[in-house]
Amino acid sequence: CPLGPALLFVKTSQGREEGRRFYACSACRDRKDCNFFQWEDEKVSEARLAAREEYNRNHQPSFTHRQNVERYKNFVLLPLSKRRFCQECQQLLLPVEWEKHSDHQFLCDVSSAQLKSPSQLLYPLENKKTNAQYLFADRSCQFLLNLIIDLGFRRVLSVGTPRLHEMIQSKASLEEDFRVRSLLLDIDFRYSQFYTEDEFCHYNMFNHYFFGGEAAHETCRKFLNQDNDERVIMVTDPPFGGLVEALASSFKKLMAMWKETEKEGRNNQEMPMFWIFPYFFESRILEFFPSFSMMDYQVDYDNHALYKHGKTGRRQSPVRIFTNLTPSMIVLPVEEGYRFCAVCQRYVSSGNQHCEICNSCTSKDGRRWKHCALCKKCVKPSWFHCSNCNCCALQNHTCEKTGAGCYVCGKAGHKRSTCPSLSSA
Ligand code: SAH
Ligand code: ZN
Ligand code: ZN
Ligand code: ZN
Ligand code: ZN
Repeated sequence: CPLGPALLFVKTSQGREEGRRFYACSACRDRKDCNFFQWEDEKVSEARLAAREEYNRNHQPSFTHRQNVERYKNFVLLPLSKRRFCQECQQLLLPVEWEKHSDHQFLCDVSSAQLKSPSQLLYPLENKKTNAQYLFADRSCQFLLNLIIDLGFRRVLSVGTPRLHEMIQSKASLEEDFRVRSLLLDIDFRYSQFYTEDEFCHYNMFNHYFFGGEAAHETCRKFLNQDNDERVIMVTDPPFGGLVEALASSFKKLMAMWKETEKEGRNNQEMPMFWIFPYFFESRILEFFPSFSMMDYQVDYDNHALYKHGKTGRRQSPVRIFTNLTPSMIVLPVEEGYRFCAVCQRYVSSGNQHCEICNSCTSKDGRRWKHCALCKKCVKPSWFHCSNCNCCALQNHTCEKTGAGCYVCGKAGHKRSTCPSLSSA
């Protein structure tokens, strides 16, 4: 499909063992955005293949990345009064193009500062099912960058983190002694208007597809090849509705690219990584990356009303950092209430009490959890042990809710995230 190789899915209905397998778009979970569909065993005629190729060609951006880089060069030569940005087309305009956009809304006098922060200029693509572009609040972005610098990294592979990339690029151009570099991989092609081919690759993180082909692949490989001791870290903040399995598979391929770049081989090291994702995906992520652990730091967003910092009275963000670095190295800001737990050897939220029985700081959401002796684990403060269900739950839950079977296989006793049929698929 236009977004690269499709993924193989399986359709299962309750009670049926074998589902029928089909290919669908890797990135769009809404059929309105991409309606690619093909049964696994379907025969596709030559004519349909040709039509599909033509469709894919027609659904590529109107300018190539190379063309956009040329356009940018011309754009910055223009006097301020001639620098326009079409808000409808989300495009920098050259004077010869003004006429075509005459009935569109546009911004005038686009400054160099604005060009350095495209994530402010472009509107966030919020459609939940595909882009889900939620931009870091400045506080969180600054925290991430400082952490990266303090840990001694000099190169950041920014996968779906345009705002982090932008902060790094902007500092690099303004501060002479700033040594960090970033390469942005993102599916949002609008960014190609602002960054060269060495700074941005049009990339799909659900199928590890570089739209720029071998050349873009090589750009990424080169970036990962850390010469003169410039250590690399990958930071990613995928759409939360995304399939963890598909993401993990792509990230493993990026890790493999990193590993290949060194001739001597890095023993059994993994590329250092921050995967930013909600805490309730912890078990899913650990399934694919057993070396990862979840940090208590709450990542905040600008354009997400729910995911803002708790102190302002709003709900606390459920978004966390998962990393394969040693937890004790991830220093969280004491002034925001985080403290170091000497037993767990990691920084935890202020409300996260060390449980003597579990021998760990067990809270996932920042609130103080309580230990249930019957469940033999800590549970959310709002839960109570239900002797009917033989586990802890909300007080007003319906006991042994019927039809609450697994979303994937339809069987009772487990949820989608722990479905045994997933690991075999
Ligand atoms: N918090 C980050 C943005 C995260 S939003 C920041 O402020 O920098 C998710 C990002 O992933 C968006 O930039 C979006 O364009 C990108 N994205 C969404 N689907 C993608 C895909 N299939 N492949 C690559 N990037 C994708
Ligand atoms: Zn326009
Ligand atoms: Zn502890
Ligand atoms: Zn406990
Ligand atoms: Zn219990």
